Amino acid sequence: MIYLDNASTTKINEEVLNAMMPYFDQLFYNASSNHKEAQHLKNKIEEARKQCSNLIHADAEEIIFTSGATESINYALKGYFEENFEKGNHIITCKTEHKAVLKTCEYLETKGIDVTYLDVDSKGRIDLGELQNAITDDTAMIAIMFANNETGVLQDIEAIGSIAKNNNVKFFCDATQAIGKIPIDVKQLHIDLLCMSAHKINGPKGIGFLYVKKGIRLTPLLHGGAQENDNRGGTYNTPLIVGLGKAIEISQRYLIQKNMHYLNLYRHLFEWINSKSNIRIIGDESNRLYNIVNIKIHNFDASIFVESSKEFAVSNGSACTSRIIEGSHVLKAMGLSDQECNQCLRISFDENTQIEHIIQFLKNIS
Ligand SMILES: *Cc1c(COP(=O)(O)O)cnc(C)c1O
Repeated sequence: MIYLDNASTTKINEEVLNAMMPYFDQLFYNASSNHKEAQHLKNKIEEARKQCSNLIHADAEEIIFTSGATESINYALKGYFEENFEKGNHIITCKTEHKAVLKTCEYLETKGIDVTYLDVDSKGRIDLGELQNAITDDTAMIAIMFANNETGVLQDIEAIGSIAKNNNVKFFCDATQAIGKIPIDVKQLHIDLLCMSAHKINGPKGIGFLYVKKGIRLTPLLHGGAQENDNRGGTYNTPLIVGLGKAIEISQRYLIQKNMHYLNLYRHLFEWINSKSNIRIIGDESNRLYNIVNIKIHNFDASIFVESSKEFAVSNGSACTSRIIEGSHVLKAMGLSDQECNQCLRISFDENTQIEHIIQFLKNIS
């Protein structure tokens, strides 16, 4: 099986797995205990926190470990509006966000928060003028993702950050797909809150972090012990935290090489697609990640291919429930019909993807 579905999850890196192992058995202690062994664990956890903060040019105290991007998103949005209700009851987001953002916004609507869902153009990008116009006196937050998980399309994060800052609005950015691919400096980009998940960068599942800029207060989702500076109760998940730190360290170490690798794979795909009149790439061709490519193949049934292929693990642009095709909300926001969504395949690479895999895939679909 050739795995081309890395945007949904990645295989754990062996060095990451090895770094985690001792913390499951020999070093199983509770990091909050006071004995000597626990102190070592505390140091390891703080080392991982430092690796996370270095990655985005933040301070270690600004990093809160969570169970992944979904929890971080819930915490950032619900936690902010519950804690800061006097700062405004309006949030601006976008129709192509991950469901974790969209569903949390829907929940906030039931609690009296107004939500503006910005449109995107056919390339998957929001209009900055529309964003500016959507801001009112009640706007407290803008929630826009860095890179889209279905198309790889990037938003203009620096411009969005500036608009947020100039209007005194907090900027939450879901950077789950961008982390490990694009260098991120939260200060330069004026990002106030940011999330990621380790399993998208060859780390373990069930761990990630939320960056919360100094001075911002959030109501905790999980009340309990004093862990994470009273922000999130619950015994420290030492093995996963160590794994997260290691995955981040590795992603930074090989950032340039990996990006060259992705660009190489992308170019190969791109040239081949350009030579075919029935296939095109969905979304912006320059403002993008090169490890996620969504292609539309005319007269192709993507759900049949995805579900029946014995050779390839890829993802499709639609879900088929009881023979009704429901296109992805991302592709539909970009103007595709349900039927067109079912002609779309998402191919996503990681460090393990080889050019031979791409060649074999292209042979198979042509
Ligand atoms: C995967 C993903 C998430 C959710 O991450 P979990 O670790 O599964 O909670 C959120 N946003 C984006 C952009 C993602 O790609």
